[in-house]
Amino acid sequence: MKEMIFLEPVFKEVLWGGNKLRTEFGYDIPSDHTGEGWMISAHKNGDCRIASGCYQGKTLSWLWENHRELFGNLEGEVFPLLVKIIDAKENLSIQVHPDDAYAATHENGALGKTECWYVLDCDADSTIVVGHNAKNKAELKEMIEEKRWMDLIRIRPLHKGDFFQINPGTVHAIRGGSLILEIQQSSDITYRLYDYDRLQNGKPRELHLQKSIDVIRCPHEDDAFEPKKISGDGYQAEILMRCPFYTVTKVTVVDKAEFVQNQPFAMISVMEGEGELDGVKIRKGMNLILPSGYGTYTVEGQVEFMLSGV
Ligand code: ZN
Repeated sequence: MKEMIFLEPVFKEVLWGGNKLRTEFGYDIPSDHTGEGWMISAHKNGDCRIASGCYQGKTLSWLWENHRELFGNLEGEVFPLLVKIIDAKENLSIQVHPDDAYAATHENGALGKTECWYVLDCDADSTIVVGHNAKNKAELKEMIEEKRWMDLIRIRPLHKGDFFQINPGTVHAIRGGSLILEIQQSSDITYRLYDYDRLQNGKPRELHLQKSIDVIRCPHEDDAFEPKKISGDGYQAEILMRCPFYTVTKVTVVDKAEFVQNQPFAMISVMEGEGELDGVKIRKGMNLILPSGYGTYTVEGQVEFMLSGV
């Protein structure tokens, strides 16, 4: 049987970050402002190392480059997805991402960014920004030029277990008091629209107003995907999203359940509880990849995990 691939996360220190990757997930993080854990990533800005097994110490990008058979011989320059845990103690900037076509032209052939969020936890009165209220580009431009941010952005209440799909061109911002699992295309291209006039090292962070106006979709439309519930022996699951870039399914195991990995690869992010996967201990905060051809696997325990892949 093929080995499962455990990864060492890459942590990012940012002004808005907190310490929940330590207090909630037990990671030995250096800072109390660790906003992002890149849990499964082969991106050059945070390339995870393999934590155990015969490829221990190699990076995920190396594995993608040299052992494509583990990923079903998928084509592509880069491992296509990136899984993050985001611990927002403070508000993140209001931003938007380009699609593949815009990024290819304007960002040296980089991938665009479609992303989705699953709310692992949040404060009682938390909110999130998804979408905007401009009817068309002209109104969008006007509202941005006049800095009418509160008229422009759509602020929504946030609850544990909420799910949001953020397509390219969607104005969005994670706000303080939320802990989020993010699954996204492997891209780091963000256009910052508004940063609450904050200063970093005495200076405001750069904004990208023209590129933002170029890519923001007008008017905003929420994604229309209908989640689909499925269940089987010992588990319940819900397909939260199926889009051209990824499929994301939340799985809750009660006691013991059997699954089949017959995709090019499958990413597992344990969100709650602990148990065993084919006899290997797994617990909240662990992330791993089941390679191509892995076949049948058994999960035992009281475990909730996100299963994602292409
Ligand atoms: Zn984003």
